Amino acid sequence: MPMAVQLLSFTPDPELLMAAAAHLCYRDVSAVELLDVLAPHDVGRLIDIIFESGHLSVAEHVSFTFAIDGVSRVLTHQLVRHRVGIAISQQSQRFTNVAAAGYVTPPTIEKDPDASAAYAAGVQQALALYELLQSKGVPNEDARYVLPQAIETRLVLTLNMRELIHIYSMDACLRSQAELRQLLARIRAAIRTVSPRLARELRIKCFRAGYCDETRMCIELKGRMPRKDEVIGSRQRLPSKYYERLEAELDSAL
Ligand SMILES: Cc1cc2nc3c(=O)[nH]c(=O)nc-3n(C[C@H](O)[C@H](O)[C@H](O)COP(=O)(O)OP(=O)(O)OC[C@H]3O[C@@H](n4cnc5c(N)ncnc54)[C@H](O)[C@@H]3O)c2cc1C
Repeated sequence: MPMAVQLLSFTPDPELLMAAAAHLCYRDVSAVELLDVLAPHDVGRLIDIIFESGHLSVAEHVSFTFAIDGVSRVLTHQLVRHRVGIAISQQSQRFTNVAAAGYVTPPTIEKDPDASAAYAAGVQQALALYELLQSKGVPNEDARYVLPQAIETRLVLTLNMRELIHIYSMDACLRSQAELRQLLARIRAAIRTVSPRLARELRIKCFRAGYCDETRMCIELKGRMPRKDEVIGSRQRLPSKYYERLEAELDSAL
């Protein structure tokens, strides 16, 4: 099946909640009251301040839950590397039989008919071996060792807004993998239906920072996006002795 992403649930009125949480820090008043009195223009102003200042802890109060189907195990292996502000429940290959599951073909393989045919044959061969092992009484949890990473899987994914900003900035980078970028594009489209303002904060890291810090820059932005050292070059050119002296001053004040 093709990749499917559906927003299952989300924090109601996420911008108002973030604004109230931020405002509460500077007012001796309950968040209950703030939720009542904050006008839309106050919320908009507070949200701008939150993102401009980078005080993103209040974005942790907002979360989104998605049903995701038809993605590869390659993709989920990358997703599960994220450790904070994220919850994942994934279809088990121990308890389900995936003999009839589909598989994902990357666009670089799909565009070449020979590569595509060889790839399909390889995946089918692995699936045939999986079924052969099952027919000999090998349990799913052991037969799965022969499955390709291309095999499709399903998950429920919950992210808080702060982690989503981080994941999007890293994993939607044009140097990241196409399938992961496709997933994040769909997630952003779903968030846009709830809050166009929050969706605007989902930008790849170079668009957020104004420079690229990758060792090898993507072809798409080469020559168009400044390199990190072009933007903060003057700071880098300061002799390290300058920093050593500052550190020594700070140490001596201890
Ligand atoms: C283009 C690309 C290529 C990659 N290539 C590789 C690769 O070759 N090999 C590989 O192993 N991985 C690779 N990764 C995965 C990457 O290194 C991260 O492991 C993964 O993206 C998880 O992100 P994170 O570490 O920011 O974790 P998250 O859980 O998203 O953490 C968010 C932030 O919280 C903080 N944080 C989280 N946990 C801790 C902690 N325990 N201690 C202190 N601070 C913490 C960090 O500031 C972190 O950035 C790649 C990622 C990208 C985008």
